[in-house]
Amino acid sequence: MLHHERLKPPSQDYPPNEWSVIERSFRPEFIAQMETILALSNGYLGMRGNPEEGTPCVQNGTFVNGFYESWPIVYGEEAFGFARTGQTILNVIDSKVIKLFVDDEPFCLDGTNLRYYDRQLNMKSGTLDRELLWETPSGKQVRIVSRRLISFQQRHVAAISYEITVLNSAADVVISSGILRHQNEQHSIENDPRQSKFSGMLLQPRASQAKGRRIVLTHDTERSQMNVACAIDHDFESDCSWHYETSHTANSGQVVFTIGAKPACPIRLTKYMVYHTSKTAIPDDVSACAEWTLDRVVGQGFGRLLADQEQYLRQFWHRSDVQVSDIKPERARLSTVEMQQAIRVNLFHILQASARAENYGIAAKGLTGQAYEGHYFWDTEIYLLPFLIYTSPLTAKNLLRFRYNMLDQARARARELSHPGALFPWRTITGEEASAYYEAGTAQYHINADIIYALRKYVNATGDEEFLFQYGAEMLVETARFWYDLGFFSTRKGGKFCINGVTGPDEYKAVVNNNTYTNLMARENLRYATEVVERLQAQQPQVLEVLKQKTGLQVEPELEDWRRAANNMYLPFDAATGIYPQDDTFFDREPWDFKNTPADRYPLLLYYHPLNIYRHQVIKQADVLLAMFLLSHEFSLETKKRNFDFYDPLTTGDSSLSSCIEAIVALEIGEFDKAVDYARAALLMDLANVGGNVKDGCHIASMGGTWMVLTYGFGGFRDYDGTLSFRPQRPPEAEASLRFPLTYRGQVLDVEINPDSTTYSLREGERLVIRHEGEEITITRANPTVVRRTLSPVEIAS
Ligand code: BGC
Repeated sequence: MLHHERLKPPSQDYPPNEWSVIERSFRPEFIAQMETILALSNGYLGMRGNPEEGTPCVQNGTFVNGFYESWPIVYGEEAFGFARTGQTILNVIDSKVIKLFVDDEPFCLDGTNLRYYDRQLNMKSGTLDRELLWETPSGKQVRIVSRRLISFQQRHVAAISYEITVLNSAADVVISSGILRHQNEQHSIENDPRQSKFSGMLLQPRASQAKGRRIVLTHDTERSQMNVACAIDHDFESDCSWHYETSHTANSGQVVFTIGAKPACPIRLTKYMVYHTSKTAIPDDVSACAEWTLDRVVGQGFGRLLADQEQYLRQFWHRSDVQVSDIKPERARLSTVEMQQAIRVNLFHILQASARAENYGIAAKGLTGQAYEGHYFWDTEIYLLPFLIYTSPLTAKNLLRFRYNMLDQARARARELSHPGALFPWRTITGEEASAYYEAGTAQYHINADIIYALRKYVNATGDEEFLFQYGAEMLVETARFWYDLGFFSTRKGGKFCINGVTGPDEYKAVVNNNTYTNLMARENLRYATEVVERLQAQQPQVLEVLKQKTGLQVEPELEDWRRAANNMYLPFDAATGIYPQDDTFFDREPWDFKNTPADRYPLLLYYHPLNIYRHQVIKQADVLLAMFLLSHEFSLETKKRNFDFYDPLTTGDSSLSSCIEAIVALEIGEFDKAVDYARAALLMDLANVGGNVKDGCHIASMGGTWMVLTYGFGGFRDYDGTLSFRPQRPPEAEASLRFPLTYRGQVLDVEINPDSTTYSLREGERLVIRHEGEEITITRANPTVVRRTLSPVEIAS
């Protein structure tokens, strides 16, 4: 059930466009939300969409992935094994400020006479572009054109090209290009657990220098002992007379250009910004790195950065774009252009969050805000990796390797909680558990199985067995061991393997017994571990030897244990209704009084004590339904339908991770009206501020979920065990078409779904066998396959 929907910015000022997010008027009420939507990032470095002048703003945010400060978590009441150290991503040095003064009049968007305003996030060029015409109080018309980018090719680099022209007069112009440290502030509503709670001046100055038009500031953090160097340099070009002066302190600096502007004579400034960080190098070395990078990019110039950026984006869209046409606006409440725009915004922000993350993870908000402290969650494995696996397998591999790199800490955490094996952290930057609320943190043991689920998907889709054997196998052994130890064979449950005291995906239930999702996913984890070790035994004895040395694996007894646990996994099931209760006691709980819960009391977590929520049948996000999507092959259509009918009315969607999953299940079972509503909510989660908190950053998991709605939902795509199958789903009488590519084992498959046919063609590769509505078809490069009939779920069932 959708309980709330906010309005999106009005289309007269934010006209839809397939390739851009356009802002045609300066609207103060949308500042915070547009800072998020118009943020630029490459997965390593991110900047919120603040205006060049720095103000007006809600948060002037610049983030470097994995650059954090730690702090001791203080509990009112302590207990053994609680997470000890908090980690928070920091707002680092702001380098994008360019202030403008004309005849000593400062330019500021607020309250200014703007004759023309246009700001666009251009998703083809990967730039934030702005064009303004400002009329000063004395009637001078000043055109300001800027373009900002964060380079995908050179991940430490950002740049701004800034051009001003006084059109109708001569003027005294000053452009001050700055660099400065901000407070790390809290921008939160009180009691909102999603917000960063860490504030103050958290960057300490270590070194600063200036020469010519260059300034380098180096800071470090007190506890995490990380260094960040931020360096800026400038090119300046104009036929007007000009000179400049550079000054700096330990925490700020500016290069001030003073220009005698002639009428209609352009003044061009290019600003290059570089960030380097390190946990091990000394500050001098980090700033030296920043200067080397700066030397290179200044030599290359803005044109080269832009050309590289455009080429990177071309390649991205070529392998990732999802296209729609002929959308019926009466039904979707979106035109084709609006829908296309929303799809691309989602995909573009996933790219921005992940592309150059490399040795880091993907934070819940990407690098668009500090909410959730910049932590990495299961969002990556369950919501983002499907898209990345099928469009950018290298990025997917980096993210899985990043998890592997946490394995030692995960082993230590398991030990701390008295288990063998490994327990990955629910939320983290460093690999250590950083969640201070264990009920909805550490208790979400399912993170282990989520990682393994993604590993399996990755290996099946890429055929990358080298990765599986070198890294995956070790994660499999340690997680399987963990599950085996966490659960037990319960005599009260007929000797079945039960896993008690866990929290499933639905955070409105905590520390329950036998969460269905967890048990199902743990079973997959145990099965896959067994299967992979058996394969090693049969085919790769040397690799198995290494694995045994690394993990102390005792093949026979341990495999036997895992098999027994998997084969006897307890799954709560109510035969009378055909429903899988979310956990052992879900049915015993009192129904939530939805009728008397006003729309403004959502999300419930901001208005009710957790205990009031926990004791009721009320769900934050898809849980059993998520399992029915991820392990779709385990459930009949009838079962999915029955469970959807039961769970959907209880699900608030208070987490943005919910709508996309509900949409996919609703599509599969033919609940098209609901499916369209949920799909819309997922699609517009950020653009229309559906959750009401887009100011705090993009909902990156929901963005990945949106891709899943299009491919797994409308495309009816399933990939269990690596065989690609499709059962396209469309509301009756829909006339829309949908196209998307999938990279599969080095081949690229194009899927095009039209009202009365589906076409599969191989863009790259020679031959691929897939299933369409249960029938096997072979596609070759030379012969795209067109399938004429599209069955509806009703037909399938009959
Ligand atoms: C959700 C979690 C999610 C987290 C970060 C929470 O609101 O309940 O499932 O991992 O947000 O996105």
